[in-house]
Amino acid sequence: MSLDRNAFFIDGDWATPADADLIEVVSPHTEEVVATVPEGTTADIDAAVAAARRAFDHGPWPRLSPEERIEVVQAFSNLYAGRMGEMAEIISTEMGAPLSFSNLAQAPAPWMQIEAFLGIARAFPWEESRPGVLGSPVVVRREPVGVVAAIPPWNVPQFTIMSKLVPALLSGCTIVIKPAPETPLDPYLMAELLQEAGVPEGVVNIVTAGREVGAHLVAHPGVDKVAFTGSTAAGRKIAAVCGEQLKRVSLELGGKSAAIVLDDADLAATMEGLKFASLMNSGQACVAQTRILASRSNYANVVDALAETVAGMQVGDPLDPATEIGPMVAQRQQERVEKYIALGQEEGARVVVGGNGMPDGLSSGWYVRPTVFADVDNGMRIAQEEIFGPVLSVIPYDDVEDAIRIANDSDYGLAGTVWTGDAESGLEVARRVRAGTYGVNTYTMDFAAPFGGYKSSGIGREFGPEGLAHYTELKSIYQP
Ligand code: NAD
Repeated sequence: MSLDRNAFFIDGDWATPADADLIEVVSPHTEEVVATVPEGTTADIDAAVAAARRAFDHGPWPRLSPEERIEVVQAFSNLYAGRMGEMAEIISTEMGAPLSFSNLAQAPAPWMQIEAFLGIARAFPWEESRPGVLGSPVVVRREPVGVVAAIPPWNVPQFTIMSKLVPALLSGCTIVIKPAPETPLDPYLMAELLQEAGVPEGVVNIVTAGREVGAHLVAHPGVDKVAFTGSTAAGRKIAAVCGEQLKRVSLELGGKSAAIVLDDADLAATMEGLKFASLMNSGQACVAQTRILASRSNYANVVDALAETVAGMQVGDPLDPATEIGPMVAQRQQERVEKYIALGQEEGARVVVGGNGMPDGLSSGWYVRPTVFADVDNGMRIAQEEIFGPVLSVIPYDDVEDAIRIANDSDYGLAGTVWTGDAESGLEVARRVRAGTYGVNTYTMDFAAPFGGYKSSGIGREFGPEGLAHYTELKSIYQP
């Protein structure tokens, strides 16, 4: 079946692009073109924002009751549940995530988000009456924030769209989504499901395009709120524009999370956990635990165990169900990871597994060798900068106090983990690391709870009632 497309989803229908330019979607495994789709321009964004604006200012969606909107989103959720296998395959095809990861997370996690948000919306205080201090009750309402611009990255495309789309829909907002040019295919399937579920025209609009067109959307006067997931560098620029225009903005940015391995941890279980926590999505994950902190006395054991674990992971064709690590999304990403592997060696770190060059048995595709560095100092660039690939640094610590200091010695504060035989001491460590999410002997997100970053990892939270609240404005109504 051809994955080619020739239109954008605007105003509830398939719209002819303003320009004839195409994006070639290239398989990171075969390096061959697997589909072509239109590349959005500022004119397409203008049409999408105009449709979203009309739907917000004059359409039925913001004026429906929360229960009526919940019904439509529930229909969308049910349709999504039936197409997850297809969605997983599309995502693996376009950006190279191992199908094992796509079947576990790329497709099911967005659906779990929809269901979690539906539960939250059913119990949300959309309009409440509070006893006022002046004697009369005050009505407090949560109203939709308006037209939302959603800008996701390519690494977990549906995951990062759904965390914005679903709370926007449930709140009564309308939305323009600008997917990343590396992952333009999955939104087409999503758009079909939204249409089938009965989302009214103009409520959701999707235009895939690059950065400059994304910047046009951010600055567009018709947009009330920007919801962005991506690099910290882009996040800063977007925040500056939103600050100037006083637009609401939420930012989910980069990370350099630390996994603290305490001496009482079960090493085999820890390694099994780190396979996912550090190397999910071939290491292309904002929450990846890329700094592994081990005590000096246990250091050699941790390095050996990690080296053996990483060396044993299957690298190759993302569509092979046995693959654990696939290619990088693009050639520039492969080159970036290789640059960091060379840099680590220049900085004096020791490669214990991997290094530059193609993985054994592969001669094409944008692959890198999964790499473990030992003898890493936390001040090195490989320990401070987000590499976004399967490259781990093992850093020694003196005692637990020192481990917490090193974990916190980062511009980022997105996530972290601690691995220990004693859950209570794990919780104690969790309380002291400055990060928005933290795992004790696991790293699995729970969509009932807020997710987001401290420091340069972002502003605001997604998921949970907190993530829904970002799509509302508060209004207080006084009465005599
Ligand atoms: P990126 O910042 O280059 O691009 C992200 C998206 O923003 C793309 O759609 C891109 O076209 C668009 N964009 C870039 N600059 C823009 C600008 N100035 N104005 C408007 N739009 C702009 O990031 P990427 O390389 O696609 O994604 C990887 C990054 O995303 C990593 O840093 C990763 O940590 C981060 N990420 C964070 C989370 C999170 O929840 N915190 C989740 C996934 C990825």
